[in-house]
Amino acid sequence: MLTQEQRYILQEMGIPIWEERKSVEKNETDLPGVSSDDWDSLKKEAMSCVKCPLSQTRQHVVFGVGNPQAELLIIGEAPGANEDRVGEPFVGRAGQLLDAMLASIDLKRQDIYIANILKCRPPNNRDPTPAEVAACTPYLERQIAHIKPKLILALGRIAAHYLLGVDTPLGKLRGQVLQYGESKTDLIVTYHPAYLLRTPKEKGKAYRDMLTVKRKLSEV
Ligand code: URA
Repeated sequence: MLTQEQRYILQEMGIPIWEERKSVEKNETDLPGVSSDDWDSLKKEAMSCVKCPLSQTRQHVVFGVGNPQAELLIIGEAPGANEDRVGEPFVGRAGQLLDAMLASIDLKRQDIYIANILKCRPPNNRDPTPAEVAACTPYLERQIAHIKPKLILALGRIAAHYLLGVDTPLGKLRGQVLQYGESKTDLIVTYHPAYLLRTPKEKGKAYRDMLTVKRKLSEV
């Protein structure tokens, strides 16, 4: 790396400056524009995160699961007790229902990617605080930028409100195709499976949302 002074001297002497290439392509994966190194270093960073006090009470960082090249990215709220123990999102009863919702449109976990707004469990499953969301979501933003999903499915109020930057009631956000961020990625909101376990009469609406997911994914 040349200092500004050295550059100036070389320029004055009429000597061309040779720049070292930034990166060699040896780490590139099939992800369009993304190197495996980027994804791996993002994961490594998140796995050792101590940016908020949840790092002191967690058992595991729950980074995400599935195919990082998936077209569908599902985003939940935060790990619960089971997820904290296992280190994977949606492994409890809500996870079983999520698997059933996916199966209803012929999808499996390995076809999609699943992440949460928070990567560590809030004690007693309380709502994430604004400070926790602010500390943690840069990881999610980077995951979204790497995955470049065709469609995001937001599960529940916390995910929907964060991703859309609104606080509109969930019932008013579902039933339409919205857009996420500057990339204007299509985004569908549906009920959180934990809510559906408590309120089974809403399962029909969630199924309709899943059919919209299927339709959007089949569009070219
Ligand atoms: N609820 C969530 O929002 N995420 C999980 O990973 C588990 C339960």
